[in-house]
Amino acid sequence: MPTAAKLSPGEVVARRTITSYTLAPDQLRKAEGLHRTNVLLSLAGTIFGFALLAILIATRFAPRLQRFAESVSRRRIVQAFIVVPALLLTLAVLGLPLDLYAHHISRAYGLSVQSWPSWFADMAKAEFLTIIVASLFLWLIFILIRRAPRLWWLFGWFFALIVIAAMVFVSPILIDPIFNRFDPLAKTNPELTTQLRSLALASGLDIPESRIFLMHASDKVTTYNAYVTGFGATKRIVVWDTTARDLTLPQTLFVFGHEMGHYVLHHIYLGLAFTALLTFIGFFLTQQLAQFALARFGQRWQIATLGEWSSLPLLMLLASLLSFFGEPIANTFSRWEEHHADIYGLTVTQSVTKNAAQVAAQAFQLLGEKSYSYPTPSRLQVIWDYSHPPIADRIRFVLTNPVSAKAIDPEP
Ligand SMILES: [Zn+2]
Repeated sequence: MPTAAKLSPGEVVARRTITSYTLAPDQLRKAEGLHRTNVLLSLAGTIFGFALLAILIATRFAPRLQRFAESVSRRRIVQAFIVVPALLLTLAVLGLPLDLYAHHISRAYGLSVQSWPSWFADMAKAEFLTIIVASLFLWLIFILIRRAPRLWWLFGWFFALIVIAAMVFVSPILIDPIFNRFDPLAKTNPELTTQLRSLALASGLDIPESRIFLMHASDKVTTYNAYVTGFGATKRIVVWDTTARDLTLPQTLFVFGHEMGHYVLHHIYLGLAFTALLTFIGFFLTQQLAQFALARFGQRWQIATLGEWSSLPLLMLLASLLSFFGEPIANTFSRWEEHHADIYGLTVTQSVTKNAAQVAAQAFQLLGEKSYSYPTPSRLQVIWDYSHPPIADRIRFVLTNPVSAKAIDPEP
């Protein structure tokens, strides 16, 4: 039990009355510093990524790689497992300094407590998984390009959708446990689990205990989070242990209510449908732009046709340019979902929490303080970069917009 001398961060913020998102002077200085660094890092990372691929194209790196792969084996699958890993590892090694600096910053600001060996192990595991999935995926994409030069993008898009859906489905059981430890929340926090379940039941949602998990996030980070993931048989709510440990029960209920909103409002399926739409446009534009570029520069870049391995850096550059310009669209959609989850969380906790709006504001204030969330990001930045509405907006919304129970769209 926390004594008067040692209150949890949630209890400390619960003693205040939040009227807007505010940071103490030293917190604000840190938030500004972190914000500046993150903006620079993200800009540098984006430009560097484009530049690297452009240099690889101009220096005819991939045509050489293709000749080497073809000299090793005539089988396309073997070639895929030479060309794709070589290219991805080259990009990963050249991009490593920026990744190192980003992790250094997270540690310096106290957001991460992950040791360097553990961080390197995570990077290696992620790279390994990416290489396996990407090699298989691209092997099939290149078969499609060779067999159906005009319509490959349509079949490729359909195939990509199956891969994305499969990844979302298996991630909670096969991929996430590679990076973090999970336990049933009922095992570590039985009391909290009971409270969360009865909140869910009160709004007509029966989330079984087996679908609520605790993630041991404190192994690596100090920040707070909770999320919904998977679908069908793997759909679940995950609460970080940092959240369960530091937030008061009413604050945790609000965070859980927000996550329940994602669950009840079918945000995973909506997200998949939205991804399907964006990737459809992406595949079509990639095909059009690639054909245009090859007609003009194919000879200079030593790329005979799009179906040759030598075209891979070009395809990657086009895909990453398109996804960069697609970010504002994807993030605007995500902020819309998050806003509706906020409305849902506020609405469902109103029946069990006294002054639910103030509790929600306290939870946001704490989230913002803990991650040194910048109070006044520019409009452009929010549109382009923010997957969630800025903390200041979320606090202003919960404090000024009493939501009615009608705002919920309960599961039939
Ligand atoms: Zn959310």
